[in-house]
Amino acid sequence: MSVIDLKTGENLVLKALVWRGTPEPPREGLVFLREGRVAAVAEGDNGCRDKVPAPGSPDLLELPGCTVIPGLIDCHVHLALDGRDFSRARQQWNNRPEWQERVKADLQETLERGIVAVRDGGDRAGIGLEAKQLVMSGRLAGPLVLACGQALHRQGKYGSFLGPGLTPAELETAVDSLARQGVDHLKVLVSGIVSFSEYGRVGGPQFTREELQRIVHRARGRGLRVMAHASGEEAVRLAVEAGVDSIEHGYFLSEESLHRMAARGIAWVPTVIPVAGQVRGQWRAQYTAREAEIINRTWRRHLKMVRKALEMGVTLGVGTDAGATGVCHGRGFLEELLLYREAGLSPANILLAATRNGAAILGLEHLLGRIEPGRPAFLVAVEGNPWKDIGALARVKYVFRPAQ
Ligand SMILES: [Zn+2]
Repeated sequence: MSVIDLKTGENLVLKALVWRGTPEPPREGLVFLREGRVAAVAEGDNGCRDKVPAPGSPDLLELPGCTVIPGLIDCHVHLALDGRDFSRARQQWNNRPEWQERVKADLQETLERGIVAVRDGGDRAGIGLEAKQLVMSGRLAGPLVLACGQALHRQGKYGSFLGPGLTPAELETAVDSLARQGVDHLKVLVSGIVSFSEYGRVGGPQFTREELQRIVHRARGRGLRVMAHASGEEAVRLAVEAGVDSIEHGYFLSEESLHRMAARGIAWVPTVIPVAGQVRGQWRAQYTAREAEIINRTWRRHLKMVRKALEMGVTLGVGTDAGATGVCHGRGFLEELLLYREAGLSPANILLAATRNGAAILGLEHLLGRIEPGRPAFLVAVEGNPWKDIGALARVKYVFRPAQ
């Protein structure tokens, strides 16, 4: 596995099966990379005027048996957390060298799994936002990071580790303050979390529809999108009615909400692995048999809704909630995709969710999600053909990206 930084002045031609991020299957072809960008793509019999380097030339990278795809996108991570030990990660927040060391390793791992962009869901200490700045300035290597800084939540309700609790009078000021800090989007906690001891129970809504509308309105005025943590039908409905841009988690949402989301163009990032992962591997021991059964019922219902969402035309993005206990940065992404496969989604639909849809959700559809001339070269080469077997994404051979 190598990460290749495409430097200015360097040219490279990739010869492989090429999947361009469209509903069309991959085809044998050539991808011409120049100055960190895709200069041209030649597929199948489409002739190409660009000169193909001779075999053996250092400018030609032949990748037999490999597929080149657009870089993957994780729509929901928490860089402030490590997925293993919640309290240790939180203690590190006060020790900059320590958390930077940990975040550096997690970003590297993320990149090596073929993930070229992540959208951070916030933390009270603003670590996700600081990590973004470290990556942008070149001090940390990693995928593109989009950050929200702190999440908005209601005083006294779930989410104190994600941001300070707000009173209804403070909503606009909080949005303005985050906008001034240079965040890329807003995160609002509309509900609590899903119960593992009572099937279907979710911590109640934190804001009224009017309050959510105020947040969304203010965010729009500042040019920011809103990602809404919402589980439970009531919270999802409120968030959808308030016009947020994406529903995160969405456990126990109804078909009716999915219809509304499809109609209004509101995306869904279902984050299955943070729940399903609880009853796999080492984490299973933390739960009683009854709790494990509730957890299993919860994610199985969720997967059924994921499939329905796809059929209804909801834009489905892939988010892992990486950093949440049981979800490791980087590794959690394929685990999430394999759950979609379990739900019966085709590799094509899974790939589109992991690339094109993610780019749209991040507002970076002009940069990411497709292999097209003129776009920056955020590409991944995997062994095998993920269009036939999504498991091929476990075998990342190269990650290409423009040098910073
Ligand atoms: Zn989250």
